[in-house]
Amino acid sequence: MTTPLPFNRVHITKHELEYVRQAIEGSHLSGDGPFTKRCHEWLERTTGTAKALLTHSGTAALEMSAILADAGPGDEVIMPSFTFPSTANAFVLRGATPVFVDVDPRTLNIDPARVRDAITERTRALVPVHYAGVACDMSALMAIAADEDLLVIEDAAQALLARGDGRPLGTIGQMGALSFHETKNVTSGEGGALLVNDPALLERAEIVREKGTNRSRFFRGLVDKYTWVDVGSSFLPSELQAAFLFAQLEHAEQITARRVAIWDAYHEELASLERDGLLQRPLARPDNGHIYYVLLKSEKVRRGVISHLKSTGISAVFHYVPLHSSPAGMRFGRTSGPMHVTDDISERLVRFPVWPDMTGEDVARVVAAVGQALETDR
Ligand SMILES: *Cc1c(COP(=O)(O)O)cnc(C)c1O
Repeated sequence: MTTPLPFNRVHITKHELEYVRQAIEGSHLSGDGPFTKRCHEWLERTTGTAKALLTHSGTAALEMSAILADAGPGDEVIMPSFTFPSTANAFVLRGATPVFVDVDPRTLNIDPARVRDAITERTRALVPVHYAGVACDMSALMAIAADEDLLVIEDAAQALLARGDGRPLGTIGQMGALSFHETKNVTSGEGGALLVNDPALLERAEIVREKGTNRSRFFRGLVDKYTWVDVGSSFLPSELQAAFLFAQLEHAEQITARRVAIWDAYHEELASLERDGLLQRPLARPDNGHIYYVLLKSEKVRRGVISHLKSTGISAVFHYVPLHSSPAGMRFGRTSGPMHVTDDISERLVRFPVWPDMTGEDVARVVAAVGQALETDR
């Protein structure tokens, strides 16, 4: 009687299998074959970045960016605490220290005023995260970075096809990291890309991605030997992944439009519960419909809502344990300034299912169950 309504379900277009078959028959299965090229072209055309480089995850793209930023021991990197661990871990792997600052309650994104206060002699980079696909205040952040001579690396893992001040997110800083994890709008199961927006970083980016070798330049005939020239790792996905991803990218606009419609339906149907003071809807609307969340009155209310939804077959989730209060965050990072907003919202935030093939009835069912769960709070 309770049909399960999952939190996420990937929209499969008709072309994934066909492209994977073509990749197999083309007998180029390792990275940087024809499908990887098509994904690169799509990303470059769609975002306008100087160069897109597929990686095997968003995490890997962030790790590449940390190497390219030359982040190392003694360096500090400013980021929100309200994010996924990979944002910080990429820099910790290089020996650098994440410095966590609070977020703006209107966007749940890093607060530029707090960023200014967090800058020291040791600061090397800013890593804004476009939470839920909502743009950070990039003009303020880019102005701070220019004043202080800092790199800006956008964690745009959730932000494909979203914009800030009219510019595609991930293309405003020197680098931007995208994710194609199963839970993101467009996916290859696991996957990611680094957008290299500053052409000065491009030659080294190709080397770092190819195990520290000059393989890419060798294949283009620019050098006559293929050898180890820098630090690096294996960051490229196989052609099987790229083939799957290309089918998804070709449908990215439709997939995104469906998510935006689901987002808008939630927003409209939850308005009356907000008017009754039972929850708070998001104050900013993402262009790409990546996440729909609400803030409840307390952690206790959230537990009640999630368990009531679960009893009716609906899967709702929360995140993140703020990095500054996580075991590894306390060990490897430090905070700058108070964390009131982060501490408050991370206890009260709940995310509802959003996926392209959800129906209007599915949304109404979630909203009705939320209303029932909150009945006792009236
Ligand atoms: C998903 C995500 C990542 C990591 O991406 P993967 O592809 O899963 O490695 C990093 N940062 C943020 C904000 C994310 O949402």
